[in-house]
Amino acid sequence: MREGCSMTNEGITTDVVIIGSGMAGLMAALQLSKRRKVTIVTKSAIGAGNSEKAQGGIAAAISADDSTSSHIKDTLAAGFNHNNERVVNKLIEQAGPVMNMFFSWNTPFDRDDKGDFQLAKEGAHSRRRVFHAGGDATGFHMIKHVKEQCSKIYKCWNILWLMIF
Ligand SMILES: Cc1cc2nc3c(=O)[nH]c(=O)nc-3n(C[C@H](O)[C@H](O)[C@H](O)COP(=O)(O)OP(=O)(O)OC[C@H]3O[C@@H](n4cnc5c(N)ncnc54)[C@H](O)[C@@H]3O)c2cc1C
Repeated sequence: MREGCSMTNEGITTDVVIIGSGMAGLMAALQLSKRRKVTIVTKSAIGAGNSEKAQGGIAAAISADDSTSSHIKDTLAAGFNHNNERVVNKLIEQAGPVMNMFFSWNTPFDRDDKGDFQLAKEGAHSRRRVFHAGGDATGFHMIKHVKEQCSKIYKCWNILWLMIF
């Protein structure tokens, strides 16, 4: 155990325990820490995992010629309609707000000479809607920025890092 852990003989008091500190764990911690005391239990280093290795990018239908309905349609078609439609809708509807969060943290998504985002058209997508950062280092940059936000909260809010080796 190390880094920021304050465990007493009586143990830890917490409202929520999150196992893992990849993108899912850190984003959940950020949201939940607004209302709850959150403890993250993770192995290895904070942020280590698949998320920081993600290369291709993150899809969000937020350009003027794109739409959430088109993104949903493409996703359902790519899954041969075996997808859970309710989950697909919910995830894709959140793409805009989530990207705005990362923009507000100055995550360095790649831009062209004119300053517009360089959007890639990956398999199954009918439009260019995949944002990437540092070429193929998208996950690295996104985890770096979400970790920074968690660290700020850790100082003044209630995220406790409990790292188990
Ligand atoms: C090389 C590569 C490239 C990828 N490229 C893309 C891409 O371009 N776009 C895309 O959308 N997706 C991509 N993916 C998939 C994407 O990275 C994953 O879907 C995503 O990161 C999953 O996030 P997560 O938070 O659930 O998992 P992770 O980021 O893997 O986090 C899991 C966390 O749980 C912790 N953990 C695991 N076991 C335990 C345990 N027993 N006890 C405590 N903690 C534990 C880990 O240490 C880690 O902190 C890629 C994956 C890889 C490997």
